[in-house]
Amino acid sequence: MLNNSGNSKGVIFIVGFGPGDIKNMTLWARECIEKSEVIVGYETYVELLRPYLNGKEIIETGMTEEVDRAKLAIEKACEGKIVSIISSGDAGVYGMAPIVLEVLLESGWKPGEAPDVQIIPGVTAATACASIIGAPLSLDFAVISMSDLLVPWEIIEKRVRAAASGDFVIVIYNPLSKKRTWQLQKARDIIMEYRSPDTPVAIVKSAYRDGQKVEITSLKNITDSQALGMLTTIIVGNSTTFVKNGIMLTPRGYSSKYSVKINLKT
Ligand code: SAH
Repeated sequence: MLNNSGNSKGVIFIVGFGPGDIKNMTLWARECIEKSEVIVGYETYVELLRPYLNGKEIIETGMTEEVDRAKLAIEKACEGKIVSIISSGDAGVYGMAPIVLEVLLESGWKPGEAPDVQIIPGVTAATACASIIGAPLSLDFAVISMSDLLVPWEIIEKRVRAAASGDFVIVIYNPLSKKRTWQLQKARDIIMEYRSPDTPVAIVKSAYRDGQKVEITSLKNITDSQALGMLTTIIVGNSTTFVKNGIMLTPRGYSSKYSVKINLKT
């Protein structure tokens, strides 16, 4: 809790509601949404949560209007309302939490002053998608967004190179959009300077939502996937990641460190 004043008026819950379905939403996220009078969110997310928003004031905005959304939520909370600003996955990961905090801090707000602010963590796309295909994120991994709308491409490229040379499992968010098509291929080429072209890759579209699509492929074939899109997350294995019986796994240690052998009774 960023505000311990005990003031019950004027609250902003910055709610990460998980990948999309109710079962991956935390109890805390559900409670906050339930007790909110106002819901502020991107229209697609409002649609996803519609069954839980009966009787609430709903403020929907478009995809690129994050700063406006944050300002609207703050204005409503300053009127004394209980407000949830909703963000998919975790609100702090390419989500609304940093934007709301930036707008508040810019206005001179300090923790302890009105409005109260609480950030409700959620299941982020990386772990949601990993859970569908096995356990590829078992050790060190890096998360990189291919979107160069807010971060210059040179910096993204530098991060891809660092993660690839460090043998991190690499989770790619925002792999492409209608206008951003070449970045993924460029990232793949950089990773292939350090990793085998046959490195296993999982491509998960719309995890835990209608239209979920899962493909396991290899690094060299990443751009041929039919599951690529704006709602897709890609997991590129490290040098120890393997696929067996459709399961993608990064083992926790080198095989000499522990024994995993059992005899299954059939
Ligand atoms: N805050 C979100 C990320 C927002 S950035 C989170 O923590 O998950 C948007 C990107 O997240 C998408 O381009 C996609 O890469 C990923 N993403 C979000 N929801 C997803 C889902 N249900 N399935 C697969 N990828 C998803």
